[in-house]
Amino acid sequence: MTKEKAIEEILCSLETNDSSDRIPQTDTPIEPEEELKVDSESTDKTHQSGFDGFGFSDALIETLEKKGYKDPSPIQKAAFPELMLGRDLVGQAQTGTGKTAAFALPILERLKENKKNPQVLVLAPTRELAMQVAESFRSYAAGHPNLKVLAVYGGADFRSQVSTLKKGVDVVVGTPGRVMDHMRQGTMNTVDLSCLVLDEADEMLRMGFIDDVEWILGQLPEERQLVLFSATMPSEIRRLSKRYLNEPAEITIKSKQQEARLIRQRFINIHNSYKVEALKRVLEAVTGEGVIIFVRTKAITLIVAEALESSGHDVAVLNGDVPQNQRERTIDRLRKGSINILVATDVAARGLDVERIALVINYDMPFDGEAYVHRIGRTGRAGRNGEAILFVNHRERHFLRNLERAVGQQIDQMEVPSNSLINKSRLEKLQERLASSASTGREHEEETTLLKEVLENVGKELEIDSEQLAFAALNLAIGSSPLLVQGDENWIKQSSQRVRKNDRREERGNSRRRNDRDPRQLERNMERFRVEVGHRDRVKPGNLVGAIANEAGLQGRMIGRIQIFESYSYIDLPKGMPNEVFNDLKKLRVMNRELQINRQD
Ligand code: AMP
Repeated sequence: MTKEKAIEEILCSLETNDSSDRIPQTDTPIEPEEELKVDSESTDKTHQSGFDGFGFSDALIETLEKKGYKDPSPIQKAAFPELMLGRDLVGQAQTGTGKTAAFALPILERLKENKKNPQVLVLAPTRELAMQVAESFRSYAAGHPNLKVLAVYGGADFRSQVSTLKKGVDVVVGTPGRVMDHMRQGTMNTVDLSCLVLDEADEMLRMGFIDDVEWILGQLPEERQLVLFSATMPSEIRRLSKRYLNEPAEITIKSKQQEARLIRQRFINIHNSYKVEALKRVLEAVTGEGVIIFVRTKAITLIVAEALESSGHDVAVLNGDVPQNQRERTIDRLRKGSINILVATDVAARGLDVERIALVINYDMPFDGEAYVHRIGRTGRAGRNGEAILFVNHRERHFLRNLERAVGQQIDQMEVPSNSLINKSRLEKLQERLASSASTGREHEEETTLLKEVLENVGKELEIDSEQLAFAALNLAIGSSPLLVQGDENWIKQSSQRVRKNDRREERGNSRRRNDRDPRQLERNMERFRVEVGHRDRVKPGNLVGAIANEAGLQGRMIGRIQIFESYSYIDLPKGMPNEVFNDLKKLRVMNRELQINRQD
């Protein structure tokens, strides 16, 4: 019996059996009633795998078992049968739901042998996601050592990608720009492409890649399977899906609520000038495990990292200037725990999947609700609990509602941690370290004997008892820096008073603000800039808005009129752009060309 036939039979039997554990039907939202379970102990070959019955090969089932996957996640249960049949599919799900395996497993199982050209193309918005998806494909294909997966993305060597493609590749995972380059130059042959996946389609839209995606879609053979995954479904993505997908199965996983349930979300009202101080206090009081701090611009990543380093934290930076190989090393160090804190911009950290992230700090307000969801999704991975803390200044207060709407829950207020809270946390951590040291001991027995001798010698020499000795050892472990913080904390009160005062002032100024919405008033607050990209680069307003908003940390709606000419464009931006943002924008590349932004007098 062919695989297709087997799956068809399974589907038919599900439709006739009214069993409660049936595979969820498509076209209806699925509640994420279960978390992804990893069972690292499970090696029992007689044990039935939760992945039986989808028509997967023994090799794949064995690989999944080795990876410790016990059961398919809800999105996998729903997607496997449809994709094994070769149907098109639209899935609304975020990272953390197991969506990569949901498409990768059936796609791998349907690959044909002895083809030299790529059969599968996965488009992802960022190189980090492209690399991760490629890595997932490789790990799921462990039972097929000859299968070749290649990640292609900008910033990596083009020629080495060409030479790998020449040798033969089955699955290509790439960012739209680089994939287009390969298609245009004929270095990636599309004749055998039978499946295209658009991963995180809403992110691709947000980053201005949608035209590129449509161009790529236009190059594909008529007979192909299209799969689209997106965390949200803006109208542009619906339109794309209607236009290109053929009667797709539709699956919705309501994972925002699931993520929200696992992630404790709070905000701190804080004046900009106190943010660094507040950050240091939060880091002391809230967690010991991996932390990502999101900031608006590259320049701020450096300022924040330096401030934290000078107060004794091990910090790494992830921004657009960090070269690709260094990024990979940084993420690896974070994963292994050799660094604990990462300061990153949105673009650099998108798609990052590190399980040990326990805390996400939004040092700067995210660009919008979707960006917030993506940022906090870096914690609470693989069923763990996570924390997210957002710094909000008084001007940003009214954006909080948008974020709450995006996650479907209230974000609670918290205060900047006080001295007494930090001291309590320090003592708890010390107690934990001591307890863990007492229960682990030294690795080499010989060292334990020698240390005991040292204790005995000192005890005898100074004629002190074991309690005094223990105290001396603890003192030694703590070192010379003070155990308790006693610094000035008046600023915490002043900061929240200042925020409250600004709130009241803002209420009084409501009517004045209404006038600000007057288009003439808005225009007076804007400056005109010239950028050196235009129609010849196929630039669209969305590309400029997406790129500039990301880089300058502006809300998209704060960007004014855009006029595009053949070789340049005009764009209106709020007055008073800081110099460092301006310099970053100069070097920013849109449609593969430097903006070289300049004020237009
Ligand atoms: P994703 O949503 O694709 O980003 O996957 C989130 C995490 O869940 C990844 O680390 C996967 O390795 C893991 N995962 C995916 N499917 C399963 C499964 N059925 N059981 C256990 N873990 C899984």
